[in-house]
Amino acid sequence: MYKKLFIPGPTHVRDEVLAAQTAPMIGHRSKDYSDLQGAVRPKLQKVLYTEQPVFLYASSGTGLMEGSIRQTVLKRALVTVCGAFSARWYEVAVANGVPADSVEVEWGQGITPEIVDAALSKGDYDVLTVTFNETSTGVMNPLKDIAALVREKYPDTVILVDAVSGMAGAKIEFDAWGLDVVLASTQKCFALPPGLAVAAVSERALKRAEQVPNRGYYFDFLNMLKYYKKDQTPATPAVSLLYALNQQLDDILAEGLDNRWNRHIEMANVVREWARKYWALFPDERFLSNTVTTVKNTRGISVADLNKALGERGAMISNGYGSKLREKTFRIAHMGDLTVADVNWLLGQINDILGLE
Ligand SMILES: *Cc1c(COP(=O)(O)O)cnc(C)c1O
Repeated sequence: MYKKLFIPGPTHVRDEVLAAQTAPMIGHRSKDYSDLQGAVRPKLQKVLYTEQPVFLYASSGTGLMEGSIRQTVLKRALVTVCGAFSARWYEVAVANGVPADSVEVEWGQGITPEIVDAALSKGDYDVLTVTFNETSTGVMNPLKDIAALVREKYPDTVILVDAVSGMAGAKIEFDAWGLDVVLASTQKCFALPPGLAVAAVSERALKRAEQVPNRGYYFDFLNMLKYYKKDQTPATPAVSLLYALNQQLDDILAEGLDNRWNRHIEMANVVREWARKYWALFPDERFLSNTVTTVKNTRGISVADLNKALGERGAMISNGYGSKLREKTFRIAHMGDLTVADVNWLLGQINDILGLE
């Protein structure tokens, strides 16, 4: 049975977007392809409030995490950790031989500018990683405030942002906030099928990459930039996904960016209110995510059984992430093209299955 996905990726993809992928194949060195990428380019820049380049890679988001940390660190990276996905960036750094330290807060807590300031002031760091929305704990970090601190006190530090579960679901003003790399994959808030990764890249990040000798091949920003100027990519792009992205960006801009951000906040508010009434919220109230809510399983139900029952009714939620949080929490994603009505329907089904009143 078809299940509507209330999981933090892949998310529900509308039929119109699925259909857009079936447009005829074109050669990636053709004018038709450049026209397609050229149509996508300014729309992506609008979503990220930037005039700087936004690159497209056939990859998942993790690929771009690797590519960006590898080509921006000359000295040492400071990795901020508040859950499983932010910890991944430390693992990626180590796996690539990139010098890095991590600063960690308790799961459910967020990263504050004060924490970043204290850590940056202690070491000789030239890169900071921030996970905008930590999908394992349902924490949204105060990215704008963190960036403001860094731009003021550590102006040469390159800020790398994993916005995989936030981009296109929450406002990120790339230029105004002074960010350097903001990356995402398309199977989360973009509500596209998986396989495409997106990154806005600043002048500062490009300048840094110029100084890094072994910056890798596939994700090399400088090589990418050469092709970007012709609305192409160095390697074969995911053409069908670009068709879908082009359609989806038209729909996103037709909805209106502020309307899109507000719809995510409204959905989040509905789920939070329900969670406070029947359970408890896992994260600190100061850092609640607009795109995914992590709920404490205070009733000790079997989350796996609940999901089985939901499956029979055509929906799917997520168990807690990893051995630390599985069955102790569960996650309801409210991202992408889901609506308040969808979320209300889901919560009604859960209440019905569990006999909550
Ligand atoms: C899903 C997710 C990732 C991993 O993205 P992939 O596209 O699966 O590589 C990384 N970071 C965050 C915050 C995520 O939610």
